[in-house]
Amino acid sequence: MIEANCDEKCGCEYVVGRRRSHTWNRKEENESSQYALRKMGYQFFSPESSAALKPCMWCKRAIMGEDMCYKHQFYGIESHRCVQLTPTLSCNHRCLFCWRSFEHTYPHERDLKPQEIIDRVPFLQKKALAGYKVSHRTDPIRYQESLTPNQVAISLSGEPTLYTPLPELIELLHKKECTTFLVSNGTNPDMLRKCRPYQLYISLIAPDQDTYHAVARPLYDSYEDVLRSLSELGDAKDQRTAIRVTLVSGLNDHDPDGYARIIQDSGADFVEIKGYMHVGYSQYRLNPDHMPSQEAIVKFSDMIMQHSDYSVVGVNEASRVVCLGRDSAVSSSQKLNK
Ligand code: SF4
Repeated sequence: MIEANCDEKCGCEYVVGRRRSHTWNRKEENESSQYALRKMGYQFFSPESSAALKPCMWCKRAIMGEDMCYKHQFYGIESHRCVQLTPTLSCNHRCLFCWRSFEHTYPHERDLKPQEIIDRVPFLQKKALAGYKVSHRTDPIRYQESLTPNQVAISLSGEPTLYTPLPELIELLHKKECTTFLVSNGTNPDMLRKCRPYQLYISLIAPDQDTYHAVARPLYDSYEDVLRSLSELGDAKDQRTAIRVTLVSGLNDHDPDGYARIIQDSGADFVEIKGYMHVGYSQYRLNPDHMPSQEAIVKFSDMIMQHSDYSVVGVNEASRVVCLGRDSAVSSSQKLNK
């Protein structure tokens, strides 16, 4: 029987005869949210946190000797040596196109220490890829290489800038000789200024505030913060920067001039114009007609180019993406490809 709510307002309860500990309650809540995601292949770093990793489809395909993802084509990343992780699944957006579920929440999760995450990356990545060790379709050399990752994409799901020790996590990953890609929704420019990832991505969800609210459905009005983060991309002299646009047919695929203006002002090295994919939990919010065709993505990219000084770096039809870059950025991409 519940006697009273905890005075620390963390959600735990006093019960007759004993008090549940904060840790116990936190673990219970997170574990129930983790349950469904574990069945989808998420590997959690701790029951007290939503920090997780999950090898992407391209990592698995590369281990089987097949194609790599567009980041190999554009930036030289080897998919089988890339770890996809997030220090938190919490987010301050509820984007219609997100593959994340909004039903599973982590209200009392603990920020893990960066070292707690780093120490468990090899174990969890190996566990997630265990099935490939015995498959006759596996490329044995690539499988072995996959056990020593050299690239970490902080991009699985959730907004990583909500994790307070993010700058330290990135620094420690670099000390482990991993390159890092950080993907953010741009709502936290103060945190982004402190982070020095190898490549920083910021999402550009809409060309105007109304569309931003309709598609990203932020928990508070963060449009100005996003614009500020985008406008500071050009200031980052010692890192590569990219803008990611996820085009959703009928929702945000209008006003290419508006996109071009924001992109041009940003000074980002690269822009990825990507089509929405009807996968994960987004299937409950959108329908397959919201996926633009490759032709529509190319056409929209052309219109952005007409209003900016970006040109095509590459096109990848399998991932429905067109990558644009400034001239200086193309030579920086070639540097990484070495
Ligand atoms: S910002 Fe990213 S993680 Fe957050 S809701 Fe949007 S797509 Fe999902």
